[in-house]
Amino acid sequence: MRSVGRTARFGLAILLALALASCVTPRPGAEIAIEGVTVVDAMSGVRENQRVVTRGDRIVWVGSMGEGGPVSKRVIDGRGRFLIPGLWDAHVHFLYDLELTESMASLFLAYGVTSVRDTGGDLAQLFGIRDGWQRDGIVAPRLFVSGPLLDGAFVVYDGATAAQPELGTSVPDTEAARAKVRWLHSMGADFIKIYELVSPAVFRALVEEANALGMPIASHVPLSLTADVAGPATGSMEHLRNIELACASDWRALLNDRRALLQAFDEGRGYELRRGLHSSQRLPAIAAYDADRCREVLSSLEGTMQVPTLRLNAFNRSRPDRNPEWQAATRALPTSVRRRWQGVVERLDEGEARSDMTFADWSLFLVGEMRDQGVPIAAGTDTPIRLAIPGESLHRELELLVRSGLSTREALFAATVAPARFFSLESEMGQIAEGMRADLVLLGANPLVDIRNTRRIEGVMSRGLWLPRSIR
Ligand SMILES: [Zn+2]
Repeated sequence: MRSVGRTARFGLAILLALALASCVTPRPGAEIAIEGVTVVDAMSGVRENQRVVTRGDRIVWVGSMGEGGPVSKRVIDGRGRFLIPGLWDAHVHFLYDLELTESMASLFLAYGVTSVRDTGGDLAQLFGIRDGWQRDGIVAPRLFVSGPLLDGAFVVYDGATAAQPELGTSVPDTEAARAKVRWLHSMGADFIKIYELVSPAVFRALVEEANALGMPIASHVPLSLTADVAGPATGSMEHLRNIELACASDWRALLNDRRALLQAFDEGRGYELRRGLHSSQRLPAIAAYDADRCREVLSSLEGTMQVPTLRLNAFNRSRPDRNPEWQAATRALPTSVRRRWQGVVERLDEGEARSDMTFADWSLFLVGEMRDQGVPIAAGTDTPIRLAIPGESLHRELELLVRSGLSTREALFAATVAPARFFSLESEMGQIAEGMRADLVLLGANPLVDIRNTRRIEGVMSRGLWLPRSIR
């Protein structure tokens, strides 16, 4: 172990601890008290010397030490430590890399991620995963699913290659749109995810049907629309996708060109269609950035949560493999995935001289603008796409949000309250208060002082089950 750094030992230790903990069946109704701890959440700020009591999957008491509260047989010493709400990753894909799927739940929990939004994948397979956890007593994060990406007549993720697995489904017309949403609702999907190749009419039909059924909507801005038109109709927008096209001084001409190309396309793959549109418009649009126009666009998004996935967007500026935490975390990946990713890293190194920073820098800049204009922001990673390790990548995302201009407290909000709010669950999740769900992360240092302290995990509580870091 001498060659392994501190973080690596820690990563392995917590994974081992979690593996052991997952064999223990949680006793429903058991009380746990975390005592003497400093409670930190994005709504209430910092409260020192607290006692937090959980019973089953609820926080039943929060107060100062000495104030009383329910007696508990099981006590966790929180002195000198910091307790935050369980973290969310608001953008993941369990079915993107099937060699990794099985490892994802324990990885997320090891890094304090107790809730995730799966933003695109086959519904039956996703439910199969969730049912399997339940059946086998596996401790896992709360999983919210959208089912497949609702795409246009052509589908970007159509399963044609390993890099484009079948995450999407075709929605060629408004009738199909309404039927698809009704089906997703009847199957129990938690929200819908609209993708980039839908027509304006299909987009409207999807939105109307989801609203009628009370389903939250996540979306990429369709290429046939602009961010200020599509965004306000949805609850969340992903990856800042296509906002640059709306923020350009010549946005009208760009939109007309895209529509002409979309209409003329009657044969071929959705992936290539989208790639062609991005590569012909993205960098010219960023070069034609118009600050006044963009302020207008962003002012239309004040009610739409943005999940910028900076980890993905700013990849060229901030390669994950350059960080010791990432290197250490790869040791917990299945061998086949680790080897494959090593090959990816080697190819990235070879092409590095040609890698363009424009989009990375623009993404970091735009999130700062959004923050200044009061646009709500949530933390999501697109794990496991582009070398994103489940859980580890969320901490990277938090760092990048702070680098863009968010305060540490705003970054914590982005990974706790904001995603809960998307599902109208803010009275249940995202804070440390009586009546909230028992998802917690115990840290060795204050994340409001340095956001990197969210990595200093001493233990995790998931649905009232305490997962200690038992080996140091
Ligand atoms: Zn995604």
